[in-house]
Amino acid sequence: MSAIFAETRPDEASAVVEAPRRERKRVVVIGAGFAGIAAARALRHADVDVALIDRRNHHIFQPLLYQVATAVLSPAEIAAPIRQLEVKQRNLSVLLAEVTGVDVATRTIEASSPGVGVRKIAYDYMVIATGARPSYFGHDEFAQFAPGLKNLSDAETIRAKILGAFELAATTEDESERARQMTFVLVGAGPTGVELAASLAQMVRVTLRGNFRRIDPAQASIILLDAGKRVLPSFAESLSAKVTRRLTKLGVKVLTGVKVETVDAEGVVAGGNRIPSATVLWTAGVAASPIPKMLGTKTDRAGRALVDPFLEVADAPGVFVVGDAASVFQNEHPVPGVAQAAIQQGHYVGRLIARELKGRKVKRPFRYFDRGNMAVVGKNYAVLERGWVRTSGFLTWLVWALVHILALPQLQNRLRVQRQWLWSYVTGQRSSRLIPEPPRGAGSGPDLPRAP
Ligand SMILES: Cc1cc2nc3c(=O)[nH]c(=O)nc-3n(C[C@H](O)[C@H](O)[C@H](O)COP(=O)(O)OP(=O)(O)OC[C@H]3O[C@@H](n4cnc5c(N)ncnc54)[C@H](O)[C@@H]3O)c2cc1C
Repeated sequence: MSAIFAETRPDEASAVVEAPRRERKRVVVIGAGFAGIAAARALRHADVDVALIDRRNHHIFQPLLYQVATAVLSPAEIAAPIRQLEVKQRNLSVLLAEVTGVDVATRTIEASSPGVGVRKIAYDYMVIATGARPSYFGHDEFAQFAPGLKNLSDAETIRAKILGAFELAATTEDESERARQMTFVLVGAGPTGVELAASLAQMVRVTLRGNFRRIDPAQASIILLDAGKRVLPSFAESLSAKVTRRLTKLGVKVLTGVKVETVDAEGVVAGGNRIPSATVLWTAGVAASPIPKMLGTKTDRAGRALVDPFLEVADAPGVFVVGDAASVFQNEHPVPGVAQAAIQQGHYVGRLIARELKGRKVKRPFRYFDRGNMAVVGKNYAVLERGWVRTSGFLTWLVWALVHILALPQLQNRLRVQRQWLWSYVTGQRSSRLIPEPPRGAGSGPDLPRAP
């Protein structure tokens, strides 16, 4: 255990413990996603101890989660161990723990690790980069029937649900149940919903072709629902229209302007109509993690902390919120909740703290530089919007592939993803078609979704 994390024993779980008389100041970064890692890395040459805390031991490249959910990639291909950062950065210590409390008055956070208990860690600066989670817009009861896509276990749950539905469709004698198993409803037509729907369409028509004697997977019905007027609302209307056409060509039924009223074990009720479906996936919205609310500062409707132009929290000097957990405005428009914004914010705050430690003041507020927005719609097709530049098609898809390969966290990820993509591109096959077995003792057979 690094000296930076003086720890409590489980039986003295709530005692405030910290390394006595710290020689150097300490920056605690909560969350090792895009924003947290960028903040920590920007402090690598600073004369400060950096504590990077995450409840997971791995960083996830979320833009490719949908490919794990649709069996193109396996989880390890889009994840990297956070602890590896200690090798690269001498002033950094990684702690696997869930932050459960933040007290700006005493400048401490409370973190809980399995087997260790709760410990309190003091900070001089704190960077909150805890990201977002799926939001069911006040209907959390939908979550048990419609998983969101935010981490690797969500992706694996979705993959098992999709593959399991075909297995059950192939075994049931009941026509209507077979149709229900082969109906997939995706709620939310933002980039994740669109990418997931297109990848699923490709999978049922190409990858699973000829795999079942009793059913034809290509007959599966894939429905993409959204209450809004069009798919990809953050893109220009012309690109939304192209994407709708492309999805339709792939066999996805796009239903916009349709509000989901209920999600239950039988399917969804949307726009007054019941759609029987065994696989409903939620890609509709996100809300910030609960940590910003613990600051006692103002938050927006999605729970994101309202920060000043330097990304600092009002009345809490040295406390910053970055990435999806922060509500940041530029030219009266919200900065989008995307990876590049999170990286830029984390980097900015890391640099700001490094300068402050040298006794210099940062005068320039944070500015988001938009490098462009992309979404991929199946094989050979992507859309890109950057300022007034709007492109779509095969070349854009190549750019998308290149950008994503380069953005993966480690060389190992880049090589493995390239190899898998090449294999899938040439053969149409997907190597990660696994339905996990239930843990030993939990019954026999694979972990299939419920059959009636
Ligand atoms: C499916 C999906 C697809 C996406 N596709 C794209 C895309 O194509 N392009 C794009 O630019 N953006 C995309 N995004 C958005 C992008 O991934 C996010 O904007 C970005 O991850 C935000 O970075 P962040 O660091 O704020 O949060 P995250 O990357 O979510 O990281 C938050 C970290 O905080 C940790 N954490 C949370 N709470 C606690 C706690 N209490 N204690 C300890 N640790 C905690 C989490 O474990 C996590 O590691 C996508 C997001 C999703 C979910």
